[in-house]
Amino acid sequence: MSGSNPFENLQEQLDDAAQYLDVGEDVLERLKHPERVLETTLSVEMDDGSLETFKAFRSQFNGDRGPYKGGIRYHPDVSRDEVKALSGWMVYKTAVADIPYGGGKGGIVIDPDEYSDGELERVTRAFATELRPFIGVDKDVPAPDVNTGQREMNWIKDTYETLENTTEPGVITGKAPENGGSAGRVEATGRSTMFAAREVFDYLGKDIEGASVAVQGYGNAGSVAASLIDDLGADVVAVSDSSGAIYNSDGFDTRKVKQYKAETGSVTGYGAATDELSNRDLLTLDVDLLVPAALENAVNGDLARDVQADVVVEAANGPLTPDADDVLTERGVHVVPDILANAGGVTVSYFEWVQNRQRFQWTEARVNDELEALITDAFDAMTDAYEKNDLPNFRTAAYVVAVQRVVDAYEGSGSWP
Ligand code: GLU
Repeated sequence: MSGSNPFENLQEQLDDAAQYLDVGEDVLERLKHPERVLETTLSVEMDDGSLETFKAFRSQFNGDRGPYKGGIRYHPDVSRDEVKALSGWMVYKTAVADIPYGGGKGGIVIDPDEYSDGELERVTRAFATELRPFIGVDKDVPAPDVNTGQREMNWIKDTYETLENTTEPGVITGKAPENGGSAGRVEATGRSTMFAAREVFDYLGKDIEGASVAVQGYGNAGSVAASLIDDLGADVVAVSDSSGAIYNSDGFDTRKVKQYKAETGSVTGYGAATDELSNRDLLTLDVDLLVPAALENAVNGDLARDVQADVVVEAANGPLTPDADDVLTERGVHVVPDILANAGGVTVSYFEWVQNRQRFQWTEARVNDELEALITDAFDAMTDAYEKNDLPNFRTAAYVVAVQRVVDAYEGSGSWP
């Protein structure tokens, strides 16, 4: 029985894939735990002169294929187990995308809405100072995640470079273009979700043009995915954020909704001919495609029984529990897993890191073309494994591909010490 502990969910997903692989129990056990986790308490001065403490984590899950790689999240629900799970998913995400990284993830237990810009800068620099001995262009390369973006990445880069007395933009990705960021990085996660949706509709012989779509979560991943899927000719009929959901059977102008959310703080209240829905209503709408793009555990086994979408493409990390997966598999609903469908973010992070190391900027067109090639290759590798091994679902297939790549790298290195 799986539940809401994302770390246990990750371990269950690995067990599911291992049944179809020739991996010993000992090696599998190694792949189910992080190599190390930094847990720290940041002490930061607030604007009123008081001192506040914040718990923060960085999990380095596995480095067999390259430097640890993954974002840093700011959220009140951040926990050690969540960060461990998210870092593990990064291992298999970088492996399925076939980019030369391991997996890591970090987080601070904080609600950023409650703090001033100056306070957030001091919190971020305090975390960067703690991270400094552990990160590095060839060691561990952080990036944005929930509630962090270019601003925070610029602060971390600046703190690291100042303390190390060096210039090393590739120590972190997701920076602003002026600070060494890549063209196309902000849109990259949503762009991979769009490619995954396009590929899976094509694979299943369904038409994406005219397909109805519901998107849960309208942050960076969800809003970009909505607009790019809309550009393919689909109708985005429902979107939501943490304040609620909206529905319009004619489809939304997704970019206007994003603008409205930027101005008002939420998608709710948008447009006259719009119905307000609950989060559960949105997730169980009768649509062709459901894109969960918020947080973990959005759909559990119980809710999965009511999901009416034909296809689910995961823009969030870990939005379905393993129970939900089992129910959807049994009901014939196809799910393109997070480790493929949102791999665009880390893939363009990789392009940013390559550009930083070469001190050479790519055009946005080149970034998008190279991204498309890697995501479609990953999709083909997943569906090949699905067909060849007669696997129960796409998630197991993606893990079969990814775990095999990690095991090959591990076994190829020989044993140590
Ligand atoms: N936080 C993103 C993810 O979950 C991006 C990580 C990265 O760019 O390293 O994939």
